[in-house]
Amino acid sequence: MTLGYKKVIQAITISLLIAIFLNGCGQRAFQQSRLLMGTLIEVTVVCRDQVQANKAIETAFQEMGRVEHLLSIYQNESPISMINNLAGDQTVMVDSEVFQILKEAIGYGKLTSGAFDLGIGPLTSLWDFGQGHIPSKDEIAAKLLLVDYRDVILNEGGEVRFGAAGMAIDLGGIAKGYAVDRAIEVLEANGVSRAMVNAGGDMRVIGRIWRIGIQHPREANSVLGILRLKDEAVATSGDYQRYFIKDGVRYHHIIDPRTGWPATDCMSVTIVAKEAAMADALATGCFVLGPKLGMELIRSLPGVEGIIVSSEGKVLASSELIKSCRFFSRDSDKGITESEYQGRI
Ligand code: AMP
Ligand code: MG
Repeated sequence: MTLGYKKVIQAITISLLIAIFLNGCGQRAFQQSRLLMGTLIEVTVVCRDQVQANKAIETAFQEMGRVEHLLSIYQNESPISMINNLAGDQTVMVDSEVFQILKEAIGYGKLTSGAFDLGIGPLTSLWDFGQGHIPSKDEIAAKLLLVDYRDVILNEGGEVRFGAAGMAIDLGGIAKGYAVDRAIEVLEANGVSRAMVNAGGDMRVIGRIWRIGIQHPREANSVLGILRLKDEAVATSGDYQRYFIKDGVRYHHIIDPRTGWPATDCMSVTIVAKEAAMADALATGCFVLGPKLGMELIRSLPGVEGIIVSSEGKVLASSELIKSCRFFSRDSDKGITESEYQGRI
């Protein structure tokens, strides 16, 4: 990408990810942003009436607040905190919504051969990315023994139990996507047919084509490419989202459940899917799997597309995605082949 071109792209880029919308038929886009689930959430609706827009946006935020109360590990009273406090010693009952989310998250554990592990909690709680704290090898080795999605045992009727004391669930890899799906649901229930909900890069769009910039993993105000999506979700997991660098090594928040250390093979993974929860979980899982196995998984799943930037800066994209994405990678022209895109950041 030439510098001039990059400047043009930057001019239409806002913060991490961008959505560019054009108004038609006398309709306007109304947008509000709020801090929820530890991230900035933007809700955009396209409609004629500001009153309807404000009401719909408010209910969408309320719904995401509700999801945060259900799934947060930082709120002591949440069902997930209750499970984490008790399920090592006794069976815990949860409502059907939480049960379904746990079931779905365990399903992504199976689908990714354990790369996505909802039981990653004992390891994630060792790290402090704000303070730049690195756990010791012994601490990591000890906690690693407590991480296995197969030991989160669900029994129909809403019962949850851990296979061992000390285990802990962390739904940080899927919760934002799930919240986005629920927010879209309530927007639709409020009569909104064109909307975008963006939870820090995990987003879903409905009703028309939205143009969405994919964050460049190493240049803050730059995009890798622009996706055109309609009635789909997209999520990105990146090693630039929560991280610190110590002695030249980047430590970030996506942990490889096989080693206990931050996953090493990718800079970012972007997944396009019908639902945001799926895109979110697969982005995290494929990040851990790495470019080869991650892209194999993406290709094997109908309706799922993806872009993987390897730790060497190689950009891979699945075949259908090439049709809906304009890349700005340096050697993009050379990189496009019949079945896949290969470029460099
Ligand atoms: P994301 O930004 O969606 O990739 O999610 C990253 C978050 O998911 C982390 O902050 C953790 O809360 C959690 N997480 C980290 N590693 C994993 C993993 N291997 N499987 C599932 N969740 C993870
Ligand atoms: Mg995720």
